[in-house]
Amino acid sequence: MTNSNYMENNNYTNTYDVAITNNSYDVAVIGAGHAGVEAALSCARLGMKTILFTINMDAVANMPCNPSIGGTAKGHLVREIDALGGEMAKSADKIFLQSRMLNLGKGPAVHSLRIQADRREYQKVMKHVLEKQENLSLKQAEIVDILTEDGAVTGVVTHLGAVFNVKAAIICTGTYLNGRIIVGDHSFCGGPDGMFAATKLTKSIEDKGVSMMRFKTGTPSRINRRSVDLTRLERQDGDEKIVPMSFENEDKFIGENLEPCWLVYTNAKTHQVIKDNLHRSPLYSGNIHGIGPRYCPSIEDKIVRFADKERHQLFLEPTGRDTEEMYLQGMSSSLPEDVQIEMIHTLPGFENAEIMRIGYAIEYDCVDPLELRATLEFKKIKNLYGAGQFNGTSGYEEAAAQGLIAGINASLKLKGEEPLILDRSTSYIGTLIDDLVTKGTREPYRIMTSRSEYRLLLRQDNADERLMPYGRKIGLINDERWAHFNEKWDMIRAETERVERTYLSPNGELKEFLAEHNSSAVTTGISVADLLRRPEITYDSLAAVDKERPELPLSVREEVEITVKYDGYIKRQTEQVEQFKKLEQKRLPEDFDYTSLAGLRLEARQKLNAVKPSNIGQAGRISGVSPADIAILLVHFKYI
Ligand SMILES: Cc1cc2nc3c(=O)[nH]c(=O)nc-3n(C[C@H](O)[C@H](O)[C@H](O)COP(=O)(O)OP(=O)(O)OC[C@H]3O[C@@H](n4cnc5c(N)ncnc54)[C@H](O)[C@@H]3O)c2cc1C
Repeated sequence: MTNSNYMENNNYTNTYDVAITNNSYDVAVIGAGHAGVEAALSCARLGMKTILFTINMDAVANMPCNPSIGGTAKGHLVREIDALGGEMAKSADKIFLQSRMLNLGKGPAVHSLRIQADRREYQKVMKHVLEKQENLSLKQAEIVDILTEDGAVTGVVTHLGAVFNVKAAIICTGTYLNGRIIVGDHSFCGGPDGMFAATKLTKSIEDKGVSMMRFKTGTPSRINRRSVDLTRLERQDGDEKIVPMSFENEDKFIGENLEPCWLVYTNAKTHQVIKDNLHRSPLYSGNIHGIGPRYCPSIEDKIVRFADKERHQLFLEPTGRDTEEMYLQGMSSSLPEDVQIEMIHTLPGFENAEIMRIGYAIEYDCVDPLELRATLEFKKIKNLYGAGQFNGTSGYEEAAAQGLIAGINASLKLKGEEPLILDRSTSYIGTLIDDLVTKGTREPYRIMTSRSEYRLLLRQDNADERLMPYGRKIGLINDERWAHFNEKWDMIRAETERVERTYLSPNGELKEFLAEHNSSAVTTGISVADLLRRPEITYDSLAAVDKERPELPLSVREEVEITVKYDGYIKRQTEQVEQFKKLEQKRLPEDFDYTSLAGLRLEARQKLNAVKPSNIGQAGRISGVSPADIAILLVHFKYI
């Protein structure tokens, strides 16, 4: 069906006669949330004539939930997005209220940056970046239909009946598709933060034979800071030394911490209010059908699932510099309004708390990610891609990562170039996407460091080493960044070699140094590297005895310390990656029909046909495909 008779068949009045003809773009991005922003910017920066649609232009890059970016594993994603040439980290460095490196008490694999964000400033910065971007047009309009011809995308249609001709489209609709807001036994059609829901696009997608799912997530109330007695809460400040999120700002001063967070705990009274009203909770009354995130439970869920816990930790977080609105992290709820107010008033310091926005749950449609390839293109519709919450994930960082990959792959495909598929050994982005398209998900998927087999290799500090070469090859990393990157890693390699070959003699100075650090004495010469491998010794402390060392930036010194201290573990994981890659290189034909393969168990045939793995490694990660099934594949495809 061509675009013009689409209008007739669907009674759309062609109100844009003139505009229609100019309405041809390479890529349409549907949704300007965290996924859509990265998708649109990467397409435009890779030379695609791109148009970005959003239901509300004032909600670009909106944070409808926690006013923060990063955190465990999410901080890794933000750095990986930055290393590939994405925008999130750069904007975060411009608007942070507070910055903390989490898990410093643990190994470097789980060190993770988290900033408290001024959410309105973040939106302003991101919207302006989009507006200034060459090749990119922004439009406030709801997309109600995606047009296809011969199984490929040809256009998108707005709620005003305008048809935009496009060669590819990326769906980044977040929590808006058939959004339903639920508070107690009240529910209504709506998007987050009082915005419209998108009520027509799901049908257009399902009509093309795509399987969709219904998920749910929830958010806590927002409280007026003036109404809380902060003296009864525990203050939590940011780190003294602020580490920028973007490698572009590495070792630069990006500002001070501006706002603290506040720690408070629930108590027996809070728990009793919730228990007394569980029958009114839509979660337990059956008024919620969508599946919620296990790792972001509502407070009522916590009370039921962790009944033995006497108290639950909550954070009162600032949402901006010029607002009194505070976010009560850890108390997401869809209980009736009166119950939420009562439970909040049981918290110490909150006796007179004014609730500015009540907590709610939102149900929404999203795609079954098994419908997607590792490029995030739909298997059933050419040049149609999905990204973000629409793909079954939860979180700004997860969304932005997918938006970037979908934007890059839509552009590379239109340019006839090889797609970017990051395997699990390269990144959390690769791990996230592989989990989605190989295993699928039955609840909103959230990234965690435990999802990776290669945590020690996929650290937040070396995201540039792992991914910037890809960003450079694709064309998203400019000369200046590339030069800085090479200079940095040349310094790291040179210094790592120097500490390995530099020996210190067991003189009085070294003897004193080791005693000061409660480190065992030496009787023969010892390399600086061997000293550094001692847990009680740091690279910076060694400056006292290692006098020949060059002046190096902090990021280089930290990298040398990690590389030397963990080289044994890193070597072992690198060997595991080599094994992994061998299986990933054993390709499987994309359109092979597994029902015909004798010896495969029925479940394996069904699962292999649903996923259509692109290699033996991926086939082995599909739940329900056994090692015996893999052996049959290896024989059939003559790999053994
Ligand atoms: C109530 C709530 C609670 C949440 N709780 C958590 C949590 O606890 N933990 C967590 O990690 N994440 C949580 N999130 C999720 C987080 O907000 C999302 O993960 C993130 O915003 C997803 O980004 P996105 O780009 O995929 O979509 P969104 O940020 O939702 O952006 C979607 C964009 O698409 C546009 N749009 C939608 N449909 C159309 C259409 N048909 N035509 C044109 N434009 C369209 C919208 O205008 C918007 O710009 C929560 C979200 C909500 C709403």
